[in-house]
Amino acid sequence: MNIIFVSSEVSPFAKTGGLGDVSEALPLALNKLKAHSSVIMPLYKLVRQNGFAPNLIKSGIPVKIGLRDLSFDLSSLSYKNINFYFIGNDALYDRDGLYGTPKGDHGDNAMRFAFFSKAVLESIPYIGKPDILHCNDWQTGLIPLYLRYIYKERKDFKKIKVLFAVHNMAYQGLFGKEAVEELKLPEGTFTQDGIEFYGKASFIKSGIVYSEAVSTVSEGYAREVLTAEFGCGLDGILRTRKESLYGILNGADYSTWNPETDKFIAGNFTKDDLRPKLECKKDLCGEFGLEFDEDRPIIGMITRLAEQKGVDLVVEGMDGLLDLGASFVILGTGDEKYNSLFKDFDRRYKGRAGAKVAFDNPLAHKIEAGCDMFLMPSRYEPCGLNQMYSLRYATIPIVRATGGLKDTIEDFDPHTKKGNGFKFKEASCDAMLKAIGRAVGVFRDKKTWRALQKNGLRCDFSWDASAKRYLELYKKIKSG
Ligand code: ADP
Repeated sequence: MNIIFVSSEVSPFAKTGGLGDVSEALPLALNKLKAHSSVIMPLYKLVRQNGFAPNLIKSGIPVKIGLRDLSFDLSSLSYKNINFYFIGNDALYDRDGLYGTPKGDHGDNAMRFAFFSKAVLESIPYIGKPDILHCNDWQTGLIPLYLRYIYKERKDFKKIKVLFAVHNMAYQGLFGKEAVEELKLPEGTFTQDGIEFYGKASFIKSGIVYSEAVSTVSEGYAREVLTAEFGCGLDGILRTRKESLYGILNGADYSTWNPETDKFIAGNFTKDDLRPKLECKKDLCGEFGLEFDEDRPIIGMITRLAEQKGVDLVVEGMDGLLDLGASFVILGTGDEKYNSLFKDFDRRYKGRAGAKVAFDNPLAHKIEAGCDMFLMPSRYEPCGLNQMYSLRYATIPIVRATGGLKDTIEDFDPHTKKGNGFKFKEASCDAMLKAIGRAVGVFRDKKTWRALQKNGLRCDFSWDASAKRYLELYKKIKSG
């Protein structure tokens, strides 16, 4: 099985969220199962800033988008035994921000990702023909459209099938009339059955409509997106594709997120000896200027600062949280409104709670290791990765029961000692504080807390099982 994994972000080259983690870990897990997968992404400025210099394969490969004659350089490097390919066009990708800046999206994103989609198809003669193009999110949504309307005529492209994976229904790649005209999409595609969405071009809809199968990142979210509440206007079109819609849970990459080997943390610890976790807690207090107190639990968050993640509930509930006898740290970056809100927050709560407005991978590891609890009050959550990472670091998740969080976290019952975290239903400050209150209560009872940590440490969310399911799905798509 030959798979090309197409993604707009891939860790460790350039990442803004969970898609970056998945794009590194899933191809690795697939190759362990003897599939052959490679990965292709844009050559952003950030890739070079992160110290990677891929080798040129071919320069000046032409791509025509609308009336514009453009070209790209194809380069590659091998990392963890996987070939990563990069689409280089400095005018489009050599700038700050993968998709935009805190002020907003880049104005030419329609062109940037239409170009990326065509360039991926133009790269196939150099990379080798895949059985499956595994496309991810709206940035790759035009690939199945171009494939069907332009490239299927070419001999090498006839048998290629597309799986389109949706990591977040709310990010759709919606572009107005001007963009539609500039792209000159194939005739018959800018229609209600095609990619039109209330007068705009929807790249995510293109992915949903024109690919052989659609997947999302948890079974719970696959059910939720069929409803008006979570479908973001696309639930109707998804219902027409229900037979080809799959939910496969993301996994945790335990080679990266492992407290036994983690290079970023102050003390490595094992499932059987958690004592060095206390060193990590001390270190974390230092990072955020908190007073160290072994008996005061620290609750952490690492998140995009966006409405989706329920960060407004945290701001509203902070006094209540501190009153419960916990401390709090947050690492995040995102909407300008929240960036400045959390900078203020850091000043206001100095010593008791801390906020760092940045994207900082080493600090993310320190938070996973040094906290006692990890908070995810998301309004919706397609899968969520940090709750899985937390369990591996004996850091107990407190989550809102939605999407992948609902699927992976079982509410702890102190009497039966069953469960791996704390869950609340309502997206309200009150419900969140009640769950935090229960967690703090159990934390005070060291023996029960240890039992809870052990339950979490026993959970296995490695990619193996999910990669097997993807492989089965690829086979089905290929033979269908
Ligand atoms: P989403 O993809 O919706 O942002 P996920 O929970 O699926 O959320 O994945 C988020 C990933 O991004 C995790 O690996 C998390 O640690 C990381 N991350 C998010 N924000 C930051 C940040 N400010 N600094 C470092 N890592 C971050």
